[in-house]
Amino acid sequence: MIPFNKPFLTGCELEYIKTAVEAGKISGNGVYTRKCHEFFRNRYGFESCFLTSSCTDALEMAAILCEIEPGDEVIIPSYTFVSTANAFVLRGARVVLADSGLLNPNIDPEQIEELITPKTKAIVVVHYAGIACDMEKLISIKKRHNLFLIEDAAQAIDSYHDLRPLGSFGDFATFSFHETKNIISGEGGMLVVNNKDYVNRAEIIWEKGTNRSAFFRGDIDKYNWMDIGSSFLPSDITAAFLFAQLEHLDTIQNKRKQLWRLYYSKLLELNEKIGLPQIPSYAKHNAHIFYIVLSGIEHRRFIIDFLKKRGINAVFHYLGLHNSDFISKNYSDIHTLPNTDKFADGLIRLPLHQFLSEEEINYIVDVIKSYFIKKLS
Ligand SMILES: *Cc1c(COP(=O)(O)O)cnc(C)c1O
Repeated sequence: MIPFNKPFLTGCELEYIKTAVEAGKISGNGVYTRKCHEFFRNRYGFESCFLTSSCTDALEMAAILCEIEPGDEVIIPSYTFVSTANAFVLRGARVVLADSGLLNPNIDPEQIEELITPKTKAIVVVHYAGIACDMEKLISIKKRHNLFLIEDAAQAIDSYHDLRPLGSFGDFATFSFHETKNIISGEGGMLVVNNKDYVNRAEIIWEKGTNRSAFFRGDIDKYNWMDIGSSFLPSDITAAFLFAQLEHLDTIQNKRKQLWRLYYSKLLELNEKIGLPQIPSYAKHNAHIFYIVLSGIEHRRFIIDFLKKRGINAVFHYLGLHNSDFISKNYSDIHTLPNTDKFADGLIRLPLHQFLSEEEINYIVDVIKSYFIKKLS
C-alpha cells in the first residue's frame, strides 16, 4: 500500500533530544525553543515567534489577543479544520462562515465585505495547501473596516505571496508542526505576532498569564500573575525535534516540490476530466498537498475505492463547517456555500511525502488515467 503520508526524520532528532535532556532543562522556552525562534527570525523575518504545543493553541492565543468577547463575530472560511473556528468560539464569538473562491478552496475575498457587521472583530484566512490567499485584497478590507486579520498558516510554512513569506501579513499568524504537515514535531505549532502592540501581552499569555519570560531574561526581579493565559508553550524536547527538522527544511521542501510538479505535469493531460490545483500568479506555494477535484461525492467515493484496490491510499479533506453537526445544532441561519461544497464533495489528496518515489507517482498517475479510460469505454 502506498501511504498517504509517512512522517520523515532528518536524522538529528534523537541526538538533539538527547542534548536537551542532558542539559537538564526540558521544560518550555529552553535552548532549542530559542534556536527555533531564531531560525524563523533569520529565515522569514518573524521578529516575535512563540512556539506552541499545536496550531490549535496558537489560534487560541490569537483569539485571546484579539480580546474576543461573547457577541463578537469572526469571519472564517467554511472549508477549514475545526480549530480555526473553535479557538474563537471558545471565547464566545460567533463564527461567520465564508465561501471558497471558484478556483481554489481559499476564502473568496469578494464575498467577505457583505458578511461584515458592526459586531465583526476579526477575519481569519487559511492558506489551503500552502497556497496564498489574496493578501492585497484582504489587507485592504482589514484596513477599511479596522479589523484584526489572522492567518491560519498551519499548512503554509515556507510559502510566499510574491516575495513575502506567508505568516508575515496578519496581525497574528499560526503555524502547525503536526506530523501531517511539511515540517513536524509530532504535535507542535507557533504563533507569530506581527502587530508590535501585542508582543508583550503574547509573551504573558504564553507563560500561563505570568511575566515569567521577563523574569528569566533578568528584566524584573520576581514574576507574578498578570493576565489570563495558559500553558501554551511546548517542552524543549519538542523544540529539539523541531529544530532538527528546520535544519533540513530546504531538502524537505525541494523533494516535495519536485514530487508535486511531477504529479502536475503528468496529470495535465486529464485537465478536462479532473480539476487540478489552480495557483494564482502571486502565490509561491510549499507543495503541502497535491489535490485533484472530481465532480461530486459519488464519483469521488468511486475513485478513492478504485485507488485503494490498487494499493494507493488517497483521502478526501474537509467537510465544510457549514455542514457540521455543531453548526446545525447551534446556528439557525445556515447558508449554502456552493464553492465550499464543490471542494468538500470533490477534492481528493494524493500521497505526498519524503518516501514517495517518482516510480510510485508514475504508477499512481497511470492508475488514475486507467480509471478514466475505463469509464469512457
Ligand atoms: C493542521 C491544521 C490545524 C491544526 O493544527 P494542529 O497543530 O494539529 O493544532 C489548524 N488549521 C489548519 C488549516 C490545519 O491544516
